[in-house]
Amino acid sequence: MRAAVLVKPGQIQMQTRPVPSPGPDEVLVRISCVGVCASDVHYYRYGQVGDHIVEVPQCLGHEGAGFIEALGSEVHGFELGQLVACEPSRVCGWCTQCRTGHYNLCPDVKFLGTPPVEGIFQEYYLFHFSQCFPVPAGVSPAGVAMLEPFVSGFCAARALHPEPGHTALVVGAAAIGLSCVNMARLYGATTIIALDKFDHRLALAAQQGATHTLNVTKADPVDFIRRVVGKQGVDCAYEASGAGPAVAEVLLAAPTSNGKVSLIGIPREDRFPLLIHEARHKSVTIHNVRRFANCYPAAIRLLAAGKIDLDSWITHRFPLDRVAEAMELAGNYADNVVKALIEM
Ligand SMILES: [Zn+2]
Ligand SMILES: [Zn+2]
Repeated sequence: MRAAVLVKPGQIQMQTRPVPSPGPDEVLVRISCVGVCASDVHYYRYGQVGDHIVEVPQCLGHEGAGFIEALGSEVHGFELGQLVACEPSRVCGWCTQCRTGHYNLCPDVKFLGTPPVEGIFQEYYLFHFSQCFPVPAGVSPAGVAMLEPFVSGFCAARALHPEPGHTALVVGAAAIGLSCVNMARLYGATTIIALDKFDHRLALAAQQGATHTLNVTKADPVDFIRRVVGKQGVDCAYEASGAGPAVAEVLLAAPTSNGKVSLIGIPREDRFPLLIHEARHKSVTIHNVRRFANCYPAAIRLLAAGKIDLDSWITHRFPLDRVAEAMELAGNYADNVVKALIEM
C-alpha cells in the first residue's frame, strides 16, 4: 500500500508498506478520505505541537473515513465493505477515566497522527473495533471525515448545557468554530455571533446558522457584540480560534452574568490571561475541553439526517501523493481554503 510519510519537517515522501492484518479485536479499514487539520500542518512545518515532537519518519492525518476491509476473529457487528467513521483515539478501556466514560482523558491514549502514533495518510489502517462507527448508506465519505473536527464542537457545546433561545458567540470560524455554530443552532440559539479574520469563512458560518458575523480585522469585536446582544452579553461563548491571549478580552467581555465560556482552540502560548475581575463580577464559568468522547453515534445521526452539512466545509481535494501541497495550501490560508481533503 502507499503511504505519504513525513521524513523531515516540510518534506513528505511516498513510500510503499505492507498491508497489515487485524489482530483479534481489530478492524482493517481501507481509508477513503482524510481531512487536513491545523495540527497536521503544524507537525509538517515545525515537527511538533506543544510537547508532542515528531520522530520522523511518520504518517500524519487523523480525520478519517473508510471502508471495512477485514475483521479480526473476535469482532462482530460490522460488514465487509461498510463505510465507517474512524475515531482517532485508541484507549486502554480499563483505567478510571475510560471506565467512567471520560475516555478522552485516558492516560494511555494513542491518538492517530500524534507522535509516536502513525496517522492515516496511508491506504490501510488497523483500528481497535471500538474506534469504528458504521455510517448509514447515502452519507458521503467526505462528510464522514469531517466528523472528527465536528465532534470537538459537539463535545464543547454539550458541556455548556445551553437552553433553547440562548445567545452564543463563536470566536473563530474554521472547522471547529463552524461546528460550534452548528451546535448552537441545533441547541436552539436565536442569536449566534461568529468572529473570524476571513470573510469566506464568515460567509460559510452564516450559511450554517450564524445570525451575525464580523471580520475582526475591520471593526472592534466587543463593540460589535454589545451592539448585537446589548450590554448583558451572550449566554455561551466558544473560543475556537486558538488565538490565545489575543482573544482573552473578547471572551470575558462577551458573556452575561452566570455565562459560560468554552476553551477549545489550542493557543501557541503556555499562558492564557484571565481578566479576573470581569470573570469574578459576572461569575463566569470557564470550561476546558480535551478532545471528545461519546460523540460519534449522535454526530453520525445528525449527518445522516441532514441536520448538519459537513461536505460544504471541504473547499479543496487532493490525491494522496499531493499531501504536501494540501499542507502548504492550508498553512498559508491560500485560495479561500476552509478544509482540504485527501482522497485515496
Ligand atoms: Zn483535527
Ligand atoms: Zn484508559
